[in-house]
Amino acid sequence: MTVRGRYAPSPTGPIHLGNARTALAAWLSVRSQHGAFIWRVEDLDGPRVVAGAAEEQMRDMAWLGLDWDEGPQPGGAELGPHAPYFQSQRGDLYEAALARLAQSGRLFPCRRSRKDLRELASAPHGASGLPAYPRRWRPSNLGPNWFDTPPTDAALRFQVDEGDVCFDDPAQGRVCEDTASHVGDFVLKRRDGVYAYQLAVVVDDLAMQISEVVRGADLLDSTARQIALMAALRSPPPTFAHLGLILAPDGEKVSKREGGWTLAALRERGVSAEHVVGWLGWTLGLTDAPDPCAPADLIIRWRWMPRQAAAFVLDDDPFG
Ligand code: GLU
Repeated sequence: MTVRGRYAPSPTGPIHLGNARTALAAWLSVRSQHGAFIWRVEDLDGPRVVAGAAEEQMRDMAWLGLDWDEGPQPGGAELGPHAPYFQSQRGDLYEAALARLAQSGRLFPCRRSRKDLRELASAPHGASGLPAYPRRWRPSNLGPNWFDTPPTDAALRFQVDEGDVCFDDPAQGRVCEDTASHVGDFVLKRRDGVYAYQLAVVVDDLAMQISEVVRGADLLDSTARQIALMAALRSPPPTFAHLGLILAPDGEKVSKREGGWTLAALRERGVSAEHVVGWLGWTLGLTDAPDPCAPADLIIRWRWMPRQAAAFVLDDDPFG
């Protein structure tokens, strides 16, 4: 089977060193296995989507020297058998997955609010900073055909199983999470009709036959939920790898910083793509020194290492 990897940025802003590093690692892993690299636009969160950002991200990636085999192209065309590659145009697939989950008894409507959850003040707080959704809030009298006319004033939640969900991450090692006590039943479609990230990413990774996911460690605590959802949809999960984030000297994510660490800002300063790639490859532990190079020069050196799991803190300007 061909290895299939993907890059799935939300078009909410420009590419910075942190997501360029993840993209480079995802690309190197796929290219070193002669696989296919897929670009998907995760544009479900309407208010956060920035017009023109997807196009700009594509130009940044091409500037770096990374290519992709399927997905949107600068200029508006889409390549590949799984189009559309924009999540905002894939609602039918998400709806079909919800119907399957409803049919197998894993979905239920929920009219509770975040405030209701917050008020469970004595319960331990989980991944979202809120207590895990309590089992006792599941409806006890849901008719078998309730999803034929789904309620329009309720969120839809996935009913999680008890017990640990575990996976072997090539950078982080073995990771286990008890999803039931960590987050509990989680939202797949919001009350306002927006499909949740957890649903869309799972449906798309399965539909696009993604065999390896490489992304930032900020998504590490979504993975157990996604694996649980894939199991409920009767599909084996891909490999999941999570890279440490790049942090500014004060420990803040570079993505939260205005300006300085975007590829556009570096380019404007006259930093070359080879310089950025060489530095990124060095932060990934692939070379002994941050010497300029092209992405293709790193393919032969690519391998997973535990140190890639740790955050990389910028102590000064690497391109100064
Ligand atoms: N769209 C997500 C982001 O830009 C990435 C999702 C994923 O890689 O699973 O943070």
